[in-house]
Amino acid sequence: MNPNEHKTVNRRMALLIALSTVVIALYVLRLVFLQLINDEYFRAQATSTTDYKFTVTAARGDIVDAAGRRIASTTTGYNVVLSKLLMGEKDLNETLQQVVEILKANGESWNDTLLISEPDAAGQYHFTNDPESESDQNTLASTKEALGLQQYATAQDVMGKLVEDYELGDWPLYWQRVLGGLHYQMQQEDYSNLNNFTLAEGVSDATVATIKEHSLELPGVEIVQTSARSYEMGTVLPHVLGRVGKITAEKWKVIDENGQVTYPLREKGYNMNDVIGISGLESVYEDQLRGKDGVKTITRDADGVIVDTRLTTLPQPGYTVQLTVDSLFQQAVDQALANNIDWINERYNKDSAKAAAGAVVVLNVKDGSVAAASNYPNFDQNLYAAQYGEYSKDPGLPLFNRALQGLYTPGSTFKPAVAVAALDTGLVNQHSTVYCNGVYNYYKDYHPRCTRHGHSGNIDLFTAIKWSCNIYFYDVGRRLGSDVYNAYAYKLGMGVKTGVEVGEALGRMTTKNDPNYIESLDVQAAIGQGNTVVTPVQLATYAATLANKGVRYRTHFVKAILDTNTGEVISRTAPEVMDIIEDHDGLFDQVEKGMVGVSDTVAGLMDYPYTIACKTGTPQRSETFLVGNTRKHYTNTMMVAYGPVEDPQIAIGIVIEYGGGGARAGNLVADIFDAYFALQNGTLTLPQTEAESGDPAAQPQVPVASAPAAVPAQEMESEVDASPEGSVPQPEDTAQEDASSPQPEG
Ligand SMILES: [Zn+2]
Repeated sequence: MNPNEHKTVNRRMALLIALSTVVIALYVLRLVFLQLINDEYFRAQATSTTDYKFTVTAARGDIVDAAGRRIASTTTGYNVVLSKLLMGEKDLNETLQQVVEILKANGESWNDTLLISEPDAAGQYHFTNDPESESDQNTLASTKEALGLQQYATAQDVMGKLVEDYELGDWPLYWQRVLGGLHYQMQQEDYSNLNNFTLAEGVSDATVATIKEHSLELPGVEIVQTSARSYEMGTVLPHVLGRVGKITAEKWKVIDENGQVTYPLREKGYNMNDVIGISGLESVYEDQLRGKDGVKTITRDADGVIVDTRLTTLPQPGYTVQLTVDSLFQQAVDQALANNIDWINERYNKDSAKAAAGAVVVLNVKDGSVAAASNYPNFDQNLYAAQYGEYSKDPGLPLFNRALQGLYTPGSTFKPAVAVAALDTGLVNQHSTVYCNGVYNYYKDYHPRCTRHGHSGNIDLFTAIKWSCNIYFYDVGRRLGSDVYNAYAYKLGMGVKTGVEVGEALGRMTTKNDPNYIESLDVQAAIGQGNTVVTPVQLATYAATLANKGVRYRTHFVKAILDTNTGEVISRTAPEVMDIIEDHDGLFDQVEKGMVGVSDTVAGLMDYPYTIACKTGTPQRSETFLVGNTRKHYTNTMMVAYGPVEDPQIAIGIVIEYGGGGARAGNLVADIFDAYFALQNGTLTLPQTEAESGDPAAQPQVPVASAPAAVPAQEMESEVDASPEGSVPQPEDTAQEDASSPQPEG
């Protein structure tokens, strides 16, 4: 080859090499490219992702009144929650510090139950337990145990251990306490990838906004929506509605007698921090009110990257529980009871013990549904947490549900039950008489009395009920025997469960099995004394059964269960007949005639535009007071009533502790009927509150019981039911004492 040729070859070679290089390079690049893509692809395909599921709490169902007005509903709140899963590499202590600074700036508290103070000026810590609180003692003991310390460990020792365990030595003292407390709490609550930690509950909008603003620097700090009970009408039936609260340790972990441990609520799908109905209707209707929680699923790959977050199950709100009670009527009855107690105190109880407590139950006669159930004093659900201390120490026992659980001697209100028994068994008819000269002389050494108010001589059933003749009922009661008239009392609704959905006391009759039983106790029990005690809801049920001529319905508060979203009725409470006394020969009319006769003697009812049947009672309390040199017993005001007699609509049971004569409730009965008719006409409006009216003396639209110009002679102290000089021994636990303290269900 000539040099030129050589050059050309060289040039061609170089070109070829260059070309090849480019091609190879392209291939390599492509290979690398393919390799990388495939690798990415396969990695995504091959690595397993993990789903983490978190509960999304369903909104609790509402409790509404008969007209659909909300009494209790659910408000949305916000919690600050730590998610370990979402937190990644970010330093936990720094995150905690940052969030606590935000909470502090907005005046919020955080989840810290450690009973240790902030360090004082000398850098010393102190225990903050209430020395009188047993639960604080237990908490402190378990804290020391959890940290592996001896029980004699000081606050200093506890903090020292926390600082060591959580490596907080480099932090200032203040932050050692804050972070130590939080770490301890997180440990107690088992904070993990699967278990988020609630750092703060019910935080303000300002806190929510600030945390959301800083969300990029605060990975794993989440704002979680929660629902909490709130009360539109906090004083409407608080005892019946009951409360919601955190699940207690005892309910969460149940240990049976064999030492077997179960978690019944966990099995029903609850979480340890869930809120649950703990008393009243909230507890009884927990399954309906609760709803179905939803599920949020967070999907994470093997490198810890969150690849998906979604709501995999939508939460379903709980059902709405609708009551038979109209909240306007309930509030009118509450107000009428309070007014009546004020009136009794102003007019009668100037020097002696004040009437300070009472209860009223009003039933719809046609189906046994509750129209109102009032307790005085009452409490406000919205103030319960803040004022629990005051409420629980109040001698008037505002937290006690007198209407359903107060046990009271019925006194003469019991007499119509004995009259039903005497007529139905044929022992007497309307013409039969008993001679009353004021003293019952059947027994040799026991001579109970009658006041002979408005009556004397041969007394028939009508007169005996109208004027509450003791002698008539002593004699009829003795001849019937307590076994017989008690059987009627039970059928009428006394001394038995009325069937209400929430806890009621059983009460009791005086029986031959009572340890203090002697024959003469039968005559005392026939006028509603002896060992007999009943509840206000039993008195109302009894009055409703008399009004229904012997048909007793199940007493109930719940009208229906509704779908919260659609309002559709899921179930409706049908009237349920519990017992029947056959009405023959007009026996209930005979009794009613006597009870209408009573109304003719009672202020407030004698001139009432509708005809009301009623029976008063004035049972003695065990406490006495001196009038001159005579020691007298305090008495309770008792009343059963129903009306209008032509077509009975409502039945009423009333108790006023230390109220005196039963007839003093006449104006209260009239007020309740006024409110009832106003409700029917659509003219009943809410009583103005003090705050709204600006006038503490402002009265509601329901006519206030006013003292008549002249009190009829028959509305007198002397209508006391029992004769104190009887020789009947009284057992300590029942006798004429009524419940001034809560009684367990019997
Ligand atoms: Zn008499």
